[in-house]
Amino acid sequence: MRLQGKVALITGSALGIGKAVAARFGAEGARVAMMGNDRESLESAAAEIKGSGGDAIAVCADVRHAEEVAGMLQSVLDVWGAVDILVNNAGICKPAPFLTLSEADWDLHMDVNLKGTFLVGQAVSRAMVKQGGGGSIINMSSVNGLAAEADQAHYNASKGGINLLTMSMALELAPHGIRVNAICPGLIETRLTAPLVQNAEALAPYLRTIPMGRVGQPDEIADAALFLASADARYMTGHCLVVDGGQVIK
Ligand code: NAD
Repeated sequence: MRLQGKVALITGSALGIGKAVAARFGAEGARVAMMGNDRESLESAAAEIKGSGGDAIAVCADVRHAEEVAGMLQSVLDVWGAVDILVNNAGICKPAPFLTLSEADWDLHMDVNLKGTFLVGQAVSRAMVKQGGGGSIINMSSVNGLAAEADQAHYNASKGGINLLTMSMALELAPHGIRVNAICPGLIETRLTAPLVQNAEALAPYLRTIPMGRVGQPDEIADAALFLASADARYMTGHCLVVDGGQVIK
């Protein structure tokens, strides 16, 4: 039980990677606050964790709005009194060619992916400092934050921003004992990647860009998040951990 007694807040945890992280943390003894903008699926995901003996609550908020984030965090603090681990996982990706990318889509990706990470990260960091310091924050970036993929200028830029935000937070929060790291997943099978993963014709050439030759699974990112959240990573901060089957080295 590597997270026994810890309170973990995970954004965007109704589905996909966030849900797998929440389940993994719950199985390691954490009390899990599952946060997102989709109440119904969030509550059913929290019920699944409780059904397997874990402790979970569902808290609704849109990461783009500071007041909603503050209210969501307060409701976690009201129940458990502290937050020890944050996984800033909520994110979106709607591909569009650069030449026709709309201002609205640019703003949406920046707001959810980058500003959302800032807003939740700052609110939780303040709570961690107030409760005496210490904690682990994990920002869900992407290999697209390290190398550009076509038709994803807005997504690439938001994830590149997350990597530098991670290093900036790590610098300023280290004196408070708070570690801040990022995970850069490659192609992981979730709702977000279903249009590619479920299209055999498009997937075959894509898999040739991945040395390990397969799509990753959400639990493979959850294992990396568990490592960064736990004392196993106690001397790591400001790191962007790539989990991609070797895609970025090619
Ligand atoms: P997903 O679509 O399955 O899940 C995303 C979650 O974020 C959902 O629960 C959704 O409700 C929530 N969300 C979206 N907008 C929100 C908002 N404004 N406020 C609160 N919650 C919001 O996607 P996923 O594949 O599990 O992706 C999770 C994270 O991992 C994202 O940040 C994504 O960019 C990143 N990522 C995914 C992959 C991949 O291949 N799947 C690769 C690299 C990075």
